[in-house]
Amino acid sequence: MSFDTLGLRAELLRAISDQGYTEPTPIQKKAIPVILQGKDVMAGAQTGTGKTAGFTLPLLQRLSETPLPKGQRPVRALVITPTRELAAQVGASVETYGSHLHLRSAVVFGGVKINPQIDKLRRGVDVLVATPGRLLDHVSQKTVDLSRVEFLVLDEADRMLDMGFIHDIRKVLALLPENGKRQNLLFSATFSREIKDLAHRLLNQPELIEVAQRNTTAERIDQVVHPVDKRRKRELLSHMIGSRDWRQVLVFTRTKHGANRLAQQLEKDGLSAAAIHGNKSQGARTKALAGFKNGDVRVLVATDIAARGLDISQLPHVVNFELPNVPEDYVHRIGRTGRAGNEGEAVSLVCVDEHKLLRDIERLLKKEIPSEVLEGYEPDPSIKAEPIQRGRNTKGGGQSRKQGQTRRRGGASAKQPASSRGKSSVSASKGKRGSGKVAKKPNAGGQQNRNRARAGKSGERAALLGGRGQ
Ligand code: AMP
Repeated sequence: MSFDTLGLRAELLRAISDQGYTEPTPIQKKAIPVILQGKDVMAGAQTGTGKTAGFTLPLLQRLSETPLPKGQRPVRALVITPTRELAAQVGASVETYGSHLHLRSAVVFGGVKINPQIDKLRRGVDVLVATPGRLLDHVSQKTVDLSRVEFLVLDEADRMLDMGFIHDIRKVLALLPENGKRQNLLFSATFSREIKDLAHRLLNQPELIEVAQRNTTAERIDQVVHPVDKRRKRELLSHMIGSRDWRQVLVFTRTKHGANRLAQQLEKDGLSAAAIHGNKSQGARTKALAGFKNGDVRVLVATDIAARGLDISQLPHVVNFELPNVPEDYVHRIGRTGRAGNEGEAVSLVCVDEHKLLRDIERLLKKEIPSEVLEGYEPDPSIKAEPIQRGRNTKGGGQSRKQGQTRRRGGASAKQPASSRGKSSVSASKGKRGSGKVAKKPNAGGQQNRNRARAGKSGERAALLGGRGQ
């Protein structure tokens, strides 16, 4: 099936062909015709499925078909995203796909100067892509008028709820034309009860579009768990990156502090690394991401929230240095790899404290993730599990005890089902270690940062869901 059959106009088809896309992805096949018909949509699609083009293309078409209102050019389409990075990426997609149309767009997010955004808004834009906080800053400064919005997109809505943006979103919704006078599109990677309730209140007889089975991970991602003691994780990570010659690795930690510390430790191990999280300035985040994309930064260490929506195509390796507290985040994390039809690998380093988190993830996935103990990194059976406190960071450093060579495929290193996890180790011939050097001292762990992902959950979700429909 080609794009020609979807009902898109020539200017958009040209832009698609400029990008080299030959075939619509499943979400695009389903969403584009429905959105063109003017229907509300609730779509389940992870990042990496092509969802951005799935809503941007028909949105641009609808905007280009409706006559421009008289007077000051009003914002007619509003796309709200949870993170700055995602806003920037969606904004870039709007520009790319709309390059042969005469529509204007702007992106507004926090962490950068507001004045250039004000100037752009003043000149008039058709499509505004925004994060909730900065959007409300503009509202309070009266530099944006949302009263003539005809199209609303909530992108990665589940993450917006997770990040506690619900009050902001409610405020924004109250500024839009009343429901029934606009087309609403809601995209979410997961469909929790809360998302369904939000959709129920926000959308008018929405068309439900799902491209992958709910809460399942993309097919082409090769997943593996390596049981390892907490204090040896960093050493193992450096070893894997070096010995397997991974050139571009996205590593997840649970906390911002943990991300910083791990990036520093990896640098000491001779691996170029950068951390990306919510406490970093926008400039630092953009720089880290650019370095990662162009190959200067080999390892990008990220928290869940910062990584959300990062558009890094063909990312070959994702490592869960720590498992997420929320099983759905595992799905989001590994969605960074195996994107747009490419194969990817998701490796999880799991210590004894995390066995329950792993079980929860496997329950969500409805399958066991193959487990493989790596020689030289066998977990010490005498270490007892300790509870993982919310937002507490695990100790990332480690002392070298035994050194060994990892071997994953073939020979004696076959993956084991989780049921036998931890029972046997992989035998492998002795060999050279990977390029990572070994830290001399274990690091002091523990930090008090609360995980932002947790913050808004119960109270704020309840506030929205109990609230009036917009
Ligand atoms: P998204 O899920 O929107 O973040 O898109 C993931 C990646 O897929 C982006 O890098 C897009 O440029 C790319 N992409 C989107 N649509 C297509 C398509 N039809 N064919 C190939 N790549 C695509």
